Amino acid sequence: MDIKITEELDNTLKDNGFKKEEIQELIDNAESSGVKLKARDGDVSIAKGVSDNLTMYAVYSPSELLDVYAHKMSILGLTGGELNDVDYDDASDWTCAKCGEIALERNVDMTYMGVTRPGPGLVCPKCDEFYVSDGVAKTLKTAESILEEKRA
Ligand SMILES: [Zn+2]
Repeated sequence: MDIKITEELDNTLKDNGFKKEEIQELIDNAESSGVKLKARDGDVSIAKGVSDNLTMYAVYSPSELLDVYAHKMSILGLTGGELNDVDYDDASDWTCAKCGEIALERNVDMTYMGVTRPGPGLVCPKCDEFYVSDGVAKTLKTAESILEEKRA
């Protein structure tokens, strides 16, 4: 699937050092494997690509790339280790495209430069896939900068 990238978003890609081919590959992988989040009301998907030092996300409709973001922290797993029974309404606006379960908003442990902290993630209760929303990724970016400054 060939995705359209607006000029504005193309600039965002450049500013963040993302390559168009990388994003296209990420989306192709998500489309062929089915490992992605799908909006419960609409035709928007979130694909995820994990490498050694960066987790990248592409938000897209069938025709167009809508947003791209990333975080350097790596997600270790659920805070507490287990997915407890749902005892409050923590259903997100997203469905796991692979199994059809509604993704849950749950804290996950994230680690970066030797520091591990819990933060809000989107979790598929069946596949154990973890995602981060764009809003949370912004917060993580700030946290990453603080840790990098401490190290410097
Ligand atoms: Zn799933």
